[in-house]
Amino acid sequence: MITAGQKIAIQRTEDPRLSRTDLDNIKFGRVFSDHMVMMDYVDGAWKEPAIVPFADLELSPAALVLHYGQSIFEGLKAYRSSNGEAVIFRPQANIARMNRSAVRMCMPEIPEDVFMDALTELVRLDRDWIPKGDDGALYIRPFLFASDEYIGVKPSDNYKFIIFTCPVRAYYKEAVRVRMEQQFSRAFPGGTGATKCAGNYAAALYPAKLAQDAGYHQLLWTDGIEHKYIEESGTMNIFFNIGGTLVTPATSGTILEGITRDSIVRIAHAEKIPIEERKVSVEEVVNALRDGTMREAFGAGTAATIAPIKSITVGEEEFALPPMEKQELANHVGRVLDDIRRGRVDDPFGWLVRVPV
Ligand SMILES: *Cc1c(COP(=O)(O)O)cnc(C)c1O
Repeated sequence: MITAGQKIAIQRTEDPRLSRTDLDNIKFGRVFSDHMVMMDYVDGAWKEPAIVPFADLELSPAALVLHYGQSIFEGLKAYRSSNGEAVIFRPQANIARMNRSAVRMCMPEIPEDVFMDALTELVRLDRDWIPKGDDGALYIRPFLFASDEYIGVKPSDNYKFIIFTCPVRAYYKEAVRVRMEQQFSRAFPGGTGATKCAGNYAAALYPAKLAQDAGYHQLLWTDGIEHKYIEESGTMNIFFNIGGTLVTPATSGTILEGITRDSIVRIAHAEKIPIEERKVSVEEVVNALRDGTMREAFGAGTAATIAPIKSITVGEEEFALPPMEKQELANHVGRVLDDIRRGRVDDPFGWLVRVPV
């Protein structure tokens, strides 16, 4: 655990909303804390960051981002630790990933120390927005977009970097029905599947909507060339328990390198839970579903942590998975992650950054 936080210009809100916000009844992603970080990139250089009241932006209709989608984001969480402190889970990993996304999208990287200091200061200022209770957290959304007033296709010269936060509670409450997607693609070799760029999500909406209209919660994406190998589940990484071994597709450029995924892999290694990162074919999954060796399947990501899957539909056939209570490894790794983040056990991997009061 390390402690961070530096001086940054703060303009406090004159209209704090916390006292009139019911943190016990919040819809994911619809309630925003009082402040945000803003930092501009102007003609080749970063300006000083500042913390300002959460408010609307003023943007030219010709802003490049609105036309060509040069935009990336991150998602991470701060938690209220059992001793009352605010802690942020693995922010260095999100900062590093955001900068990898930036490089791929031809955008300027954000200096790591500036990012970290602004982030911890924002969480410090709005720490009372972290909902109390075992399922409360502060979802943190950093993003970067092209702000040139210009409609020629080129990398922007000007960018805006913003971080705001949302109080959240448990995301999916029930196990989900997923459908194997073997027509549309989320990503392809050489594309942007490994980045958190806005366009990836826009392109996934239509196939996801078709599945939702047919009664499914989520898609199970397959590779963009043959549709023979499993990649991800919706906007989460995917894990299977096949005969007692945790199996997850190896990342290779088309799969987003999830920090939850990486954390589960590390926990499994540390606890000697058999784990394999490798190609996982649709055929292997169907066979394991048929012969009963498929014991569990779950999505993994920051928003929900673990999203147990109750059935997988391949073509016309729906295969049921054991009920949530029986998904032992999903429940176990979910609990270990939660215990670490909420300070109920020590932090053996050094994943928490403490936010100074
Ligand atoms: C963000 C994201 C994930 C999960 O990453 P985490 O770092 O665990 O939140 C997985 N897949 C996609 C497509 C994502 O955008």
